[in-house]
Amino acid sequence: MSVPAPVSNIDSRPYLLERVDDAAIVQLYADGFVELALDQKILIYHLYQAALAGRDIYYDQRYRHNLEMRDVLEEILTNAGGVDPGTLSEILRYTKLFWINTGPYNNLTARKFVLKCTPEEFAAAAQAAAQAGARFPLRDGEHLDQMLARMRPLFFDPAVDPIVTNKTPGAGRDILESSANNLYDGVTMVDVARFDERYPLNSRLARGGAGLVEEVYRVGGRYDAEIRAIVGHLEAAVPFATQSMRTALQALIRFYRTGETADRIAYDIAWVQDKDSPVDTINGFVEVYMDARGTKGAWEALVYYVNPHKTQGIRKLAEAAQWFEDRMPWDPRFRKQGVRGVSANAIDVVVEAGDSAPVTPVGINLPNDQNIREEYGSKSVSLSNVNEAYDKSTSHEFRREFAWSDEEADRASRWSAVASELTTNMHEVIGHGSGRILEHLQGNPQGALKEQYSALEESRADLVALYFVPDPKVVELGLVDAADHEEIVRAEYEGYARNALVQLRRVREGTQIEEDHMRNRQMIVRWLMDHSTAIVEKRRDGKTYYVVTDIRAFQAAAGRLLAEVQRIKAEGDYAAARELFEKYGVHFDPALRDEVVARVERLDMPSYTAFVQPKLTAVRNDSGEIVDVAISYPMDFTRQMLEYSGRDRGV
Ligand SMILES: [Zn+2]
Repeated sequence: MSVPAPVSNIDSRPYLLERVDDAAIVQLYADGFVELALDQKILIYHLYQAALAGRDIYYDQRYRHNLEMRDVLEEILTNAGGVDPGTLSEILRYTKLFWINTGPYNNLTARKFVLKCTPEEFAAAAQAAAQAGARFPLRDGEHLDQMLARMRPLFFDPAVDPIVTNKTPGAGRDILESSANNLYDGVTMVDVARFDERYPLNSRLARGGAGLVEEVYRVGGRYDAEIRAIVGHLEAAVPFATQSMRTALQALIRFYRTGETADRIAYDIAWVQDKDSPVDTINGFVEVYMDARGTKGAWEALVYYVNPHKTQGIRKLAEAAQWFEDRMPWDPRFRKQGVRGVSANAIDVVVEAGDSAPVTPVGINLPNDQNIREEYGSKSVSLSNVNEAYDKSTSHEFRREFAWSDEEADRASRWSAVASELTTNMHEVIGHGSGRILEHLQGNPQGALKEQYSALEESRADLVALYFVPDPKVVELGLVDAADHEEIVRAEYEGYARNALVQLRRVREGTQIEEDHMRNRQMIVRWLMDHSTAIVEKRRDGKTYYVVTDIRAFQAAAGRLLAEVQRIKAEGDYAAARELFEKYGVHFDPALRDEVVARVERLDMPSYTAFVQPKLTAVRNDSGEIVDVAISYPMDFTRQMLEYSGRDRGV
């Protein structure tokens, strides 16, 4: 069996739909849906409803004024006949950013953005919309102009509630008070320290008459209406699920009813034990990044099915894990016996909501509860159709700009999706799970390697993939065709080298890289440049290029570096790790970064991407039973957002 031919040659349907400032809007496709059995489609349909039913929870968690602001904006847009066209186009631009970021805070910077028209122009637009029938969220006895005056700072003043999550507000300032999110109400870290939380993950902490109050997210608690709706759709889904998934869904329903931590743990365990169901969902209070304290879960939902073709490749790698381990280019003392590849699935997402949409992750590993991970393991998924949509929406001009030759740019267009999927799987399945560490570390290399550990471990997993991607075993396992192998290897190495240059666009201030994956990639490329002839820096017309000259030298040098990185991990050699990253991974030349930023800005590259989700429609018979579920692709972000809010009247 081989991986299906890259669709890039035949796939001419739209991916990139539009640009809004520095965001791209891209259509997501779930091609495998139509091939699923009917009961799986119906299962997905109910889970899809359960996902959309919770959308407003996340809006409210992110900012207490979010839902009211969204109502005002959407009422103007859907009653815009008499609105001045110039004002309308600014309101539309702002509203799209508002939807993309689930409120007025930028996803990347956490900072507030505001309307660029004047408050008077905005008021005139609202008045015109009111004439045309708009229904605004007026409070008791409030007139429209009073409402507009009340909400004016929300739309126009960047200094009011300026940052959604502020972990470093400066000396003497409180991280909770300085964060505009709605996970706390009038509560400081001093209050929290004196309070015994019973629902740390799933409550809003507010100040009540007699001290702090936990407003628990559950049926009968905060978000009662939304959670009731979610539970109703989950109950409808249960009969169509596999036995192990039923157990998990029932545990989730119980947790939504009680809100108790013990029930959340029972659900996490049931979810992680359901390893083989072809359909799965994540629905709940999951990631804690929005909370400056790192405790409260932001609501999110994803519904997905396993992509059988792509998962087959992962399984083959996992089955061959010992073969790779026996050939690791490191000291045989560090080789492991009885290696089992990490279990992971390639999935296609059908819908995402809350914290995972419209801006989505590309891979997920849950649950977050460390005790459950240690005892029961975790489930790891890579979002195949999201990755594919990212790749398809990347412009050729962008690849051209940083490629030394036309051949290199063409190779990237043709093979980079296949190459990066293959090496990502190798990274996860045979990379992280490989190698032995010495006894004295007692299974805890993090303890010895401290802040260097993550970047070192990411480097190790990347190097395993880079070292083995040219190996004939990859062809033997059917992961690529022999005829394409060398081109795929070359495309991967070239892309890896280019990335060390292009990623500098993300660090616009300072001369240091902080993020661990970025440190790892820079370290590997700069080390290879210093210790081999595999990559050379070239200049042309004032522009810098990292050019791969010799793929054999690349592989050999990656093997030498991998041996050293494994030694550092196995021995817990902190000094060597620190030196390696200080020398190659952390610091960069700001002039080079400025050059890269200028090149990227000339091309008007997006900084982040939002996705238009597929749409499901149930086909029912005369007695109301679902007899089929149709999937369609709306291609229109505005229409989808209005439809989700129940305002599908068009603009
Ligand atoms: Zn990793």
